[in-house]
Amino acid sequence: MSNVPNSSAAPVVRTRFAPSPTGEMHIGGFRTVFYSWLLARKYNGQFILRIEDTDQVRSKERVIDNLIEGFNWLSLNFDEGPAISGQYGPYYQSDRLGIYAHYAAQVLEKGHVYPCFCSEERLDTLRQEQQKRGLATTGYDRKCRNLPEKEAAQRMADGEPFVLRLKVPLNGFTVLQDALRGEMKFNNALLEDSVMIKSDGYPTYHFASIIDDHLMKISHILRGDDWLPSFPLHGLLYTYLGWEMPVIAHVPNVLGDDGKKLSKRHGAEPVLLYKGRGYLPEAILNFLALLGWAYDEQSEIFTVDELIDKFSLERVHTSPAKFDTTRLLWMNGIYIRKLSIEELVKNVLPFLEAPEADGGLPDSVARPLDRAYLRSFIHLDQERMKTFADAAFLTAFFFVDDLEYLPELLIDKKIDAAGALCALHMAYNALTGLATWDHDSIEQALRNVAAEMGVKAGPVFMGVRVAVTGRKETPPLMETMLVLGRERCLRRINIAIQRLETIQVSAETAQ
Ligand code: GLU
Repeated sequence: MSNVPNSSAAPVVRTRFAPSPTGEMHIGGFRTVFYSWLLARKYNGQFILRIEDTDQVRSKERVIDNLIEGFNWLSLNFDEGPAISGQYGPYYQSDRLGIYAHYAAQVLEKGHVYPCFCSEERLDTLRQEQQKRGLATTGYDRKCRNLPEKEAAQRMADGEPFVLRLKVPLNGFTVLQDALRGEMKFNNALLEDSVMIKSDGYPTYHFASIIDDHLMKISHILRGDDWLPSFPLHGLLYTYLGWEMPVIAHVPNVLGDDGKKLSKRHGAEPVLLYKGRGYLPEAILNFLALLGWAYDEQSEIFTVDELIDKFSLERVHTSPAKFDTTRLLWMNGIYIRKLSIEELVKNVLPFLEAPEADGGLPDSVARPLDRAYLRSFIHLDQERMKTFADAAFLTAFFFVDDLEYLPELLIDKKIDAAGALCALHMAYNALTGLATWDHDSIEQALRNVAAEMGVKAGPVFMGVRVAVTGRKETPPLMETMLVLGRERCLRRINIAIQRLETIQVSAETAQ
């Protein structure tokens, strides 16, 4: 990793998650934060939570609670933060206003910022005029930049509202190092005199985050590359404050399946939604890690411990990754298959017991479910489950009394209606007469039916499969029939026979 010396005297790696609680953070944003967490864990450093609530109008308490819940669900722990405390707090920026005021006074005195008294109305008009004239850069026209010092001081003392703006150099270049992109050169002529302290006395993100990153001894900052345009401002601030810049990496943002900006349909959703949809946190983390980082060309499945061990900034990509839902589903399936039966039961239960309208089992199935019964067959569906939300559909026929399906399903492609009916009759008799209800006896009985009829075993199995489950795709047939038990299987085959007979009768009457 860049800038991490090997000596034992190496500075501690400290990374942070610094959310602005103005809106839900989506899963793409979690990816970048996860990388920060991985770095801290890899180097036995610290991961800090800092709430950037300097936008008093938009900050919402509930957003923070949801974020923390998301982190808890993913088991991403913090070493310092509001509820944990630590020596570098307070960790809410709104509790640090005195600190920002101190540094604002310092840069004001040195002439790196200046008070601007322009009203919102003036700035709006200015913006509109600039847009009308089709100017490429629309920004503040620096009206107050050269106010006589005395006048500015007097107006501030008189209580006139003002903001503090950064006095950026008007020419030359600001040259900075990005940990992923190397040296980056920014043309100062294109920079704006951005606001550092707002008229309500609150700092802007730029000012507050730099002061906090420094005072909280953050060693590595990872953030979305949509922050790149602000990078030169940050660079200048570090210089004006006389501070060394931490390692900064602007990680490419995540794109949707369609290559466009992440949309609601492609992952731009709060991470907790994925919990509700039946994803495992381990799968989400594995998936997130690979959204913009790869260990090698082929490895895809990593435990969190492996990720801590293998993750490095050098392998983070500089081109945006795509949020591939199909891949996430596939990965979740892999993690589901790794679960023990107990874990699987625990995870699927809330999904199965949810009301039918919320995707649970039909309301006709009594709750709570019989745990022991569920435990006896859930492994049969483990192979095919991509999310826990699939469980209700996959297991319904183990629970309901009456199956709903189209009788035509009972007639396999390789057999006609009369053949299908005959096979079911014969299967019914053969299964009734079995001395023992076990895997091999059931299988042999059904094979004998096919042999006696002179047809392949496939259509016979398919007819019985649909009769006992109502589906063409199911877990292995004999195992399924063992779970259902002889009585239920025979009853269902009997119903299937009646349904097939009804079709036949109606077909004959139609002729
Ligand atoms: N508060 C900023 C945000 O939520 C933090 C960006 C950063 O990591 O520096 O986007």
